[in-house]
Amino acid sequence: MEVIRGHVYTLCPSQEQDHLLSQTAGVVRLVYNLALEQRRTWGGKPYAGGAPRVFGAKRLSRELAELRALEPWITAVSQTAQNQALIDLDRAYANFFEGRAGYPRKRKKGQDDNFRQAGREIAVRRLNRRWSEVRIPKIGWVRYRDTRKLRAKKDGSIDIRNATISRRPGGGWQISIAVRCEIAERPVPSEAVGVDRGVAVPYALSTGEMIRLPGTVPGLERALRRAQKKLSRGKRGSRRYAASRARLAKLKGKLARIRAHAAHVLSRDLAGRFGLVAIEDLNIRSMTRSARGTREAPGRNVSQKSGLNRSILGIGWHALERMLGYKLEETGGVLIKVPAAYTSQTCAACGHVDARSRESQALFACTACGSETNADTNAARNILDRALNPESYRRGSTPLLDVEASALAACEASTRLKRQQLDAAAV
Ligand SMILES: [Zn+2]
Repeated sequence: MEVIRGHVYTLCPSQEQDHLLSQTAGVVRLVYNLALEQRRTWGGKPYAGGAPRVFGAKRLSRELAELRALEPWITAVSQTAQNQALIDLDRAYANFFEGRAGYPRKRKKGQDDNFRQAGREIAVRRLNRRWSEVRIPKIGWVRYRDTRKLRAKKDGSIDIRNATISRRPGGGWQISIAVRCEIAERPVPSEAVGVDRGVAVPYALSTGEMIRLPGTVPGLERALRRAQKKLSRGKRGSRRYAASRARLAKLKGKLARIRAHAAHVLSRDLAGRFGLVAIEDLNIRSMTRSARGTREAPGRNVSQKSGLNRSILGIGWHALERMLGYKLEETGGVLIKVPAAYTSQTCAACGHVDARSRESQALFACTACGSETNADTNAARNILDRALNPESYRRGSTPLLDVEASALAACEASTRLKRQQLDAAAV
């Protein structure tokens, strides 16, 4: 099976190349913002009465060519990178008109310092065991630490689709090279697992395993808090303020990379061991909602839940979900998302729902059958149970909220389909 996969590397540009990278990102951002401004002022919807779009990338890139003749500094920067930005804008508008995203916003300096090159313009070559270099148009060969081999197609060739060069939050540059590559097909593991975002640990598995992620490195988090404090005490605009802001950004970038790496490791491990992974459906947002509560029903366990929500955001559940999705796709497994309401109050052994069963954070002691388990493991088992037997969810006596009922209906349909696929694959 052929798929497209990104490979991210840290670039080590020379001083001159660093300058050129900044310049390219700057011009590309300017082109994007000018085009956005133009469409916002003159263009309306992408289709005017069925007519072809007036301010799409094609027409804008023609105009860009005219602009280039007048402004030599635009010519100094890769033309395709500029055209790619216009294509991005087209997509941003399409996403907006089709209701998937908000109105396109302006790209900001320091925040959106990135540009994309088409694959045919990118070349890579190996220098030695650790270092390779990549050719970026108008910038030249830039060295990078070759931490991971680019994946090849079946015939062994490297097929680069595109490359995105971006400034890291804490400074420096990185390149994400997307290649079309062949992935091996292996038998799908027959085991299934439920994953819960725990209170005591980041993740609990229905197998009883507890997963700790280095995303909660205490030393680094302490350093981050210290840097944050220093920044808040500093005087805005001063040189020291700028320095502590840079330090904070660097630490944040480091923490983000550590967490992303941990999510990669965990998702690869799960996808390798299990053919079905059940997680809670984030779209329902029942956790966030029940923490804050509504006016009619003020939230329960507010402090505990809001703390949990904070750590969920920190660990990057979305990132893990995305990685699990495509890694399971590679292994032929399935990812099933279930509504998570009351998973922490339901007994995985007998199905009894009672908030009092959860007297302590760590222990689940069922008030009906008396069974005692780790609270997070119990929740993970419930999540798995809901994926495998959607009907069991209804055993609880607590009435469903509308949003949960509709999510459950959707989940049941997809679960049935996926189970059929899984059964068919197992035969
Ligand atoms: Zn019980």
